[in-house]
Amino acid sequence: MNIASDFKVQRPAFLSEHPKELFIDGKWTPAISGETFETINPSNGQVLARIAAGAAPDVAMAASAARRAFEGPWSHFTPYERQACILKLADLVDRHFDELSLLDSLEMGAPLSRLRANSHKRAIGRLRFYAGLATAIHGQTIENSASREMFTYTAREPIGVVGAIIPWNAPLTSAIWKIGPALATGCTVVLKPAEQASLSCLRLAELIIEAGVPSGVVNVITGFGESAGAALAQHADVDKIAFTGSHFVGQKIIQASAGNLKRVTLELGGKSPDIVFADADLDKAVMGAAMGVFGNTGQVCCAGTRLFVERSIYDEFIARVAKFGSDLVVGDGLDPKTQIGPVVSKEQLDRILSYIQIGLDEGATTLSGGKRMLDAPLANGYFLPPTVFGSVKDDMRIVREEIFGPVVCAIPFDTMDEVERRANATPFGLGSGIWTRDVKKVHRLAKSIKAGSVWVNCYNVMDPAVPFGGNKLSGYGREGGVEHVDDYLNTKSVWINYN
Ligand code: NAP
Ligand code: MG
Repeated sequence: MNIASDFKVQRPAFLSEHPKELFIDGKWTPAISGETFETINPSNGQVLARIAAGAAPDVAMAASAARRAFEGPWSHFTPYERQACILKLADLVDRHFDELSLLDSLEMGAPLSRLRANSHKRAIGRLRFYAGLATAIHGQTIENSASREMFTYTAREPIGVVGAIIPWNAPLTSAIWKIGPALATGCTVVLKPAEQASLSCLRLAELIIEAGVPSGVVNVITGFGESAGAALAQHADVDKIAFTGSHFVGQKIIQASAGNLKRVTLELGGKSPDIVFADADLDKAVMGAAMGVFGNTGQVCCAGTRLFVERSIYDEFIARVAKFGSDLVVGDGLDPKTQIGPVVSKEQLDRILSYIQIGLDEGATTLSGGKRMLDAPLANGYFLPPTVFGSVKDDMRIVREEIFGPVVCAIPFDTMDEVERRANATPFGLGSGIWTRDVKKVHRLAKSIKAGSVWVNCYNVMDPAVPFGGNKLSGYGREGGVEHVDDYLNTKSVWINYN
């Protein structure tokens, strides 16, 4: 295993000089309870900062600031003006990306080099895409049969105050995926980041003000899910919850939203099939399948964690995936050589290790990885190497449940009918992959796989213009694509009798 070490990166000023408080109505505000919690660097286990722990009373303050902004200054912004703010925000995020990405890397461990390449493009691309949509929102005129002298049209109106709740695996880009459509449509936001990764969201809130967005349009309540998150999901004056996270919490969100029948969109987890046929370009498929599950240390909702491989190439292929994983450089997120950072927390590491033990107890075998990396310089961090499981059966827990770590189950198959059935034998429906040169296989599977995305001869490629989301336990609603803004809008029908 390759281990990165020996590097220097400056500590961002935001971390040392700035209060890590709640951001309500454009101002830094301590939690009413005065409570704070620690945020930890998973590369070395050290405390990075103490952050305000918001709860129900703070959520109430933020929701009323968001309501005032929605009905007040923000409602006077024209689409052009909202667009100008989002474009300015994109420029600011671009200019401050070194700092924003450093905060994310320090807090959740993602390799800085990858953030500064892929996530940079993703963050700026998304903002510019939503800026475009701000001036493309329109209703319809409808020829009406009730009367010849009746004029009917529809208007699209912002839904109101949006509660946005996000996980820790891609903090900045997840926040932008919630805030971008809100700004485009004229909604306001109360954002609850994951407790493991709040810093870039707090810094983003400042940049949003600098971009000319009025105070109160975007508020950030840091803190725990059971208190801050639950209070937001329940709040009677929040009109919608845009949630990304596990289906367990997604189910709680739906229950909590019942009080005022909030609109809810849910981007949840998965157990996505990635299917490799013997006729595929195997060099591409090895790398694509490996990075489709090991990238971001496996903490990717659509990771291709069930790797189905046609039996004639199974042994060779999974040996190559295991070798590819073992050759990846694991290390501190800040080290420029690092390809795979730590997992986000000790809790998450223990969860993944317990799944590995469950797999071994159920009779699966590891071809690579499987043990925490405890040698210097990684001993104090939460490092786990890419892990490949063979000898798995479809009913094993490691094949059925989301692990959310760098762990893949490799499964041989013989026929198309068989792989079609087994790929769909999951309660989830988020991502999927097909590796083949045969166009018939592509079309047949692209149609029959029950998932929100099908990647053919590639995996986990994203574009702001292409919708992303799930079916079944992977949730509902789409982020990205022009339809994304529909979930932030109500339709009003207007009837004018000019007789
Ligand atoms: P999680 O435990 O479901 O938490 C997600 C967010 O919900 C966090 O901010 C969490 O707060 C908050 N939360 C927890 N309990 C809550 C409650 N009762 N009411 C309201 N909010 C509550 O998920 P996670 O462990 O952070 O992230 C991993 C999961 O996210 C995986 O299942 C992954 O597949 C999914 N995910 C999906 C997508 C997608 O686009 N489909 C993308 C990324 C991740 P805390 O900070 O206190 O936990
Ligand atoms: Mg959590």
